[in-house]
Amino acid sequence: MALVAVLPLLTLSCSETPPPQQHHKTQFMALGTLVTVSLWGVDEDDAAEAVRTVEDELNRIHKTWHAWQPSTLTEINAALAAGKTYSADPPTLALLRKAQDLAHRSGQLFDPAIGKLVALWGFQSDDRPDAPPPARADIERLLANLPDMNDLVISGDSLSSTNRDLKLDLGGFAKGYAVDQAIERLRALGIDNAIVNAGGDLRAIGAHGERPWRIGIRDPQSAGVIATVDTQGDESVFTSGNYERFFTWDGVRYHHIIDPRTGYPATGTVSATVIHRDASTADAAATALLIAGPGKWRRVARDMGVTQVMLIDEDMHVTMTPEMEQRVYFRTETPPQVTVSEP
Ligand code: ADP
Ligand code: MG
Repeated sequence: MALVAVLPLLTLSCSETPPPQQHHKTQFMALGTLVTVSLWGVDEDDAAEAVRTVEDELNRIHKTWHAWQPSTLTEINAALAAGKTYSADPPTLALLRKAQDLAHRSGQLFDPAIGKLVALWGFQSDDRPDAPPPARADIERLLANLPDMNDLVISGDSLSSTNRDLKLDLGGFAKGYAVDQAIERLRALGIDNAIVNAGGDLRAIGAHGERPWRIGIRDPQSAGVIATVDTQGDESVFTSGNYERFFTWDGVRYHHIIDPRTGYPATGTVSATVIHRDASTADAAATALLIAGPGKWRRVARDMGVTQVMLIDEDMHVTMTPEMEQRVYFRTETPPQVTVSEP
């Protein structure tokens, strides 16, 4: 009897309030790329506030750390190039310490101190002018005393440099740092199920209701997806690719990820994907592993503490760690040739 009495009431209240929209997906341009924020189980007003918060945070980080438009970073670089010290605030110090630590663990392959080299290649501009690659002599001049993050001295809140050629360029992990900050903001708003995706690189927390978030890994040969992964709990998926930014001169392609050992764009690997908890580490590791190449990636992965790695070479041969292999589902018509190797 009690059930019968209650049922009409339940039906009534259901028909009065429409079922809440569980999945919110919002896109906007930030960090120079298309950003997608996905939220699960958040009501309309909270979702709008969350997206605004993420957008503001990403724009603030983009402005602060821009490598060639006036920013905190260009101020720091100008001071250090003039042999002066720079007083930095705590978040800046934390970011630079993190960069220093990641650079150290990558064996300085991830080397955010080589802004001069990146600029010499013309990649510190919105549109690279149609110009040849730099002269070998100019590259060698920089290589002779190439700065790394050990040349950045952090003492208290003051920054100084032991190498006049040190010029910070955080392009190799700024996106990861920004995504980490965005996820922190969402968490502070009480949101536990979300993805912040910046141009295909992302951090996912929680789940999509009953099922995990399913995300795609870019195919270096097409605009599509080569494989999918279901994320678990709190994970970042970052890919570094030699197809992201490049120019062609005399029929030769030159891309934007520079091998500090040679001064030239990295060879051997066309894309490196890393799954790791925090996005800053995943981003820096993807860059370092692409540079490391087939002979050295294992060592770099071990030293950076990343266990889930997928590398693709020019012949579309895929190398994966066992931990990665367990989770990846290929979506291409013919699955690629795969080698599974411990890091
Ligand atoms: P993407 O996600 O576009 O593939 P990455 O995360 O690999 O990019 O970062 C590439 C950017 O990192 C370059 O545009 C440049 O700003 C910077 N960079 C280039 N070479 C290095 C290097 N050896 N170490 C750290 N940063 C680098
Ligand atoms: Mg990177």
